[in-house]
Amino acid sequence: MRRSTSYQRHRPAVLERDGYVCQICQLPTDPNAHPIDDTYPVLDHHSAVAWGGGDDIANLRTAHRWCNEWKADDLDVNPRIPEFAAVRLTPMLERAGLL
Ligand SMILES: [Zn+2]
Repeated sequence: MRRSTSYQRHRPAVLERDGYVCQICQLPTDPNAHPIDDTYPVLDHHSAVAWGGGDDIANLRTAHRWCNEWKADDLDVNPRIPEFAAVRLTPMLERAGLL
C-alpha cells in the first residue's frame, strides 16, 4: 500500500483518538509489537483508497495489521473478522499483557 506523508503524519493522532483499540475487532493493538506482527497497530482507511477514500483523519482508524489485511479493499468489513481475530489475536495480546 502507498503510504502518503499525511498518512504518517496522522498516525499518532489516530492511534490516540482510538485508544490503540482496533476499530474492526475492538481488541487492543500492541504498539510494542514488531511492525510485521499481527497485533501491530496500522491505520485502516474507513473508505478504501481504491474506492475514493482519502488520507484525512476522519477516514482513518486504528486496526491490527491482521484485521486490516483481512479487510483488504472490501467496502464493508467481513462480519466474521472480529470472530476470527478473537481466536487468532487473543493469545498474542495475553502474552503481551494487554488482555
Ligand atoms: Zn483487530
